Amino acid sequence: MKKISFYDAKPYDRLYFDKLKDKYAFEINYFEPKLSSHTVFMANGSDAAVAFVNDAIDSAVIDALYQQKINVIAMRCAGYNNIDFKAAYEKVHVLHVPAYSPYAVAEHAMALLLTLNRKTHRSYNRTREHNFSLSGLIGFDLHGKTAGVVGTGKIGRCFIDICRGFGMKVIAYDPFPVPDSGIDYVSFEELCKNANVISLHCPLTKDTHHIVNKDTLALMKDSVYIINTSRGALIDSEALLQAIKDEKIEAAGLDVYEEETEFFYEDLSDTIIHDDVLIRLISMPNVIVTSHQAFLTHEALSKIAETTLENLKAYFDGAQLENEICYQCQKNGTCDKSHKSRCF
Ligand code: NAD
Repeated sequence: MKKISFYDAKPYDRLYFDKLKDKYAFEINYFEPKLSSHTVFMANGSDAAVAFVNDAIDSAVIDALYQQKINVIAMRCAGYNNIDFKAAYEKVHVLHVPAYSPYAVAEHAMALLLTLNRKTHRSYNRTREHNFSLSGLIGFDLHGKTAGVVGTGKIGRCFIDICRGFGMKVIAYDPFPVPDSGIDYVSFEELCKNANVISLHCPLTKDTHHIVNKDTLALMKDSVYIINTSRGALIDSEALLQAIKDEKIEAAGLDVYEEETEFFYEDLSDTIIHDDVLIRLISMPNVIVTSHQAFLTHEALSKIAETTLENLKAYFDGAQLENEICYQCQKNGTCDKSHKSRCF
């Protein structure tokens, strides 16, 4: 029976993985800490590590796994910006879950937008205290407004469909437009100038790091809404905070935050948080921060568990690794997967 070390395990992870572990005949050891150079020793004796979005998979972790004869990491997520792929090449195979429920994330993006616009978070608190006043709760019709979607992959396209369902006009920016999609592509600059709502659905890369910054914020319409369900570092948080203080930005819905690793997924209600930008953002009535939860639906969790274990089964069976990725795959797609359909 293959042994798996499962890092950053939460109760809901166990629920969905335990349902399937017998089917795949894996022994899963759940660890609460994230995978890092301090915790990698816990995997000793395992055949694989399962990791998540905020684990710090740097060269020290890769080398330690390799020395422990663990040659595969299964990411139970789509994103992989937290891995040193160069260090992993020819040592540790990296598998991921490319798609689980784009609907879950796109629907959460719309939930943030609707909440911010119609102020239901404020109404909820008011009516619980028998305050039935409507002051400060005015929203606007989404119908007829322009949504600017950055990144038209799986999630971006779901979000576009949802926006169109609300009667919104949609413009989009993506350096790799989807041919014949009927999407109205514009430059990022035009998108900034024309959108009433901007929603980010692109990966975090060196090109997209701080794509929303002081300069691009200045281009945006006054009273724009910004929604980020992708990766925190797409936005320069200090610049966003300043734009909110300057009343340039009407509202921001953030499911991700650039320094989230230290905080998100943990109950820190008894702790003093030393990140002033995060605390200030959370304190704003027109900002909603959720804790990287956009993926958290029954359908997505089921699919994540199934694909992660299916990926590991394929690895141990010596089969083709459909969901493997390496630094060559990322570099202009130059990986030809010629090693028995594996990256190396
Ligand atoms: P995807 O790979 O299907 O689509 C990404 C799109 O971004 C592609 O069309 C790509 O061409 C485009 N893109 C690449 N570089 C770009 C750039 N410089 N500017 C604009 N667009 C660019 O990915 P997806 O499944 O739609 O996921 C999108 C992102 O959502 C992921 O990268 C991940 O960071 C995030 N995500 C978040 C959650 C969550 O729970 N909050 C869950 C899953 C995914």
